[in-house]
Amino acid sequence: MPDTQTQLAPEAVQRRVDDVRERIAQACERAGRSIDEITLVAVSKTFPMQAIESGVAAGLTHFGENRARALRDRVEKRPGQWKGGDVCWHMIGHLQTNKAKFVARHADRFEALDSPRLAEELNKRAGKNDRVLPCFVQVNISGADQKYGLPPDELHDFLDTCAQYDHLHIDGLMGMASFVDDSETVRSEFAHLRTLASTYTGSAPNIALEELSMGMSNDFEVAIEEGSTMVRIGSAIFGPRS
Ligand SMILES: *Cc1c(COP(=O)(O)O)cnc(C)c1O
Repeated sequence: MPDTQTQLAPEAVQRRVDDVRERIAQACERAGRSIDEITLVAVSKTFPMQAIESGVAAGLTHFGENRARALRDRVEKRPGQWKGGDVCWHMIGHLQTNKAKFVARHADRFEALDSPRLAEELNKRAGKNDRVLPCFVQVNISGADQKYGLPPDELHDFLDTCAQYDHLHIDGLMGMASFVDDSETVRSEFAHLRTLASTYTGSAPNIALEELSMGMSNDFEVAIEEGSTMVRIGSAIFGPRS
């Protein structure tokens, strides 16, 4: 195993970022899309702080964490936009209601909204912080593979419920495809998420499904071909997690 120091050195991260950006550009070209439509979120979870410093040096501005307390600790070291900083911190992992306060206080964006109870609590906490929290609803598009995310057939009712939460701004959906080699399965799951967004007919000032957060290290090219606007990439940028 390479030591983390070498793995996360600025040159190593820069090289991988260049490679990922090139692959994003090629996927965009295949799909007839502009690279400006894609936001690259570097998933720094479990890596030491050096990953973020090297990432920033390589021009990255969006980082993703999947644990509420880890996110808070990192935001304290490098504030996000909501705290006046120059990076954007995404909470991408499942959130227990009793940790909603961390996300409402520290995250720039929450990508894993998946229950009415959590929405209610986050709305309350965001209100206490006198802010509007940008959120994506996480939808379980892979079925049995995953335990988190809202079942697709509950999404539209859930969004209607969220219309009352004016401290949440729901501007997209997030989904994870099955971890399988069969790219047609993955493709159809991503297409499903896109369809779920485009068929929502409700209208509320705090809901506008403009973003699709889909695609990870192993499937971001297919995700871009299927309309992703935000890819969440960890190991392809920072190397393997130990
Ligand atoms: C870990 C994680 C990623 C990144 O995974 P990689 O395979 O390292 O790119 C993306 N999204 C979520 C929700 C994650 O938990």
